[in-house]
Amino acid sequence: MAQQQKGSKPRHVPQRTCIACRKVAGKRNLIRIVRTEQGVEVDPTGKKAGRGAYLHPNQTCWQAMLTGNRLAQALRTNVSPDNRRVLEAFMASLPVQEEIEDEQSGPLAQAST
Ligand SMILES: [Zn+2]
Repeated sequence: MAQQQKGSKPRHVPQRTCIACRKVAGKRNLIRIVRTEQGVEVDPTGKKAGRGAYLHPNQTCWQAMLTGNRLAQALRTNVSPDNRRVLEAFMASLPVQEEIEDEQSGPLAQAST
């Protein structure tokens, strides 16, 4: 008879930081970019192997990411012009700005519905 531990853990929601705006959000609310052997690519499934970086699904964050060198820093690689074009194309499919949650209540952001 094996004794099983009963304590039921609260479900852990993985949190990630957007590399552009530095806000933390649930992993599922962010888009993953991954560094693979082929280069840097968008990973909508979040399952590809490789070093990943996370971004909000809006053009504001992507623009900031592409303007600065943040992705290269986050992934510790160089983003080739080809990769960059892929990212820019993906960005074009995103909404310009994410619906902003009511921020009047302060930094305690509740990402739940
Ligand atoms: Zn962001």
